[in-house]
Amino acid sequence: MLPDLDQLIQLQQLVNAAAEAQRDVDAIPSHIAALDDRLNSSREAVESAKQKLDEAKQQRQAVEKELAEVQSRLSRFKEQLMAVKTNKEYTAMQHEIATAESEVQRLEDAILEQMLEADELTVGVDNASATLKNEEAEIANERGELESERGTLEGQLKSSAEAQASLSASISNAARRLFEKIADQRGGIAVVEAKDGHCSLCNVRLRPQIFNQILKNADLIQCDSCMRLLYHDPGDSPVGETAAS
Ligand SMILES: [Zn+2]
Repeated sequence: MLPDLDQLIQLQQLVNAAAEAQRDVDAIPSHIAALDDRLNSSREAVESAKQKLDEAKQQRQAVEKELAEVQSRLSRFKEQLMAVKTNKEYTAMQHEIATAESEVQRLEDAILEQMLEADELTVGVDNASATLKNEEAEIANERGELESERGTLEGQLKSSAEAQASLSASISNAARRLFEKIADQRGGIAVVEAKDGHCSLCNVRLRPQIFNQILKNADLIQCDSCMRLLYHDPGDSPVGETAAS
């Protein structure tokens, strides 16, 4: 194989692997943002559960205050009952007392109901807090994995850049410039395999004499359509071998 072609193939493999690693690195911030969203919604669930419990407590305090007022009114009525002088006054006071007593009953029932509701809301807060605790641990773990993946990928990118530089140094200037020009214009992919008479990337059908030349891997040959450099991988395509002979 033409040494330049052999090295350009290797260079392209390094470039492809680096591009993939770079895509993975670039995707990490959105993975982290998704973890942050998960954490935030768990925190919001706890806040909302606590808020419901607080509101319920405030409602109960309002009812307790009302009950205290009715009870003090009731005691006042009972004292006044001792002091009444006429039957009419007595009946009126009895009526006031009965009304206040039924009000006390109603408020006490309401408080009991609110206490049961508060118990449920407390369970809700506990559950949301437990979920948050689990999520915090799980998310910290996943975030750690992402950070370690980022470290690994950045290490790969660094060694790939070094390998690309040292490989480039051994490629002829003309071949390297051609590679760079095509890579620049063609999304970073300058060297692709020709397979079964076709460019494996743009899929154009190659002229038979061109394909036969490619099978020899002895020249830098560009695809007529996408301009990429083409090579033949001897490890595959028995159809191609037949065409060569
Ligand atoms: Zn092509």
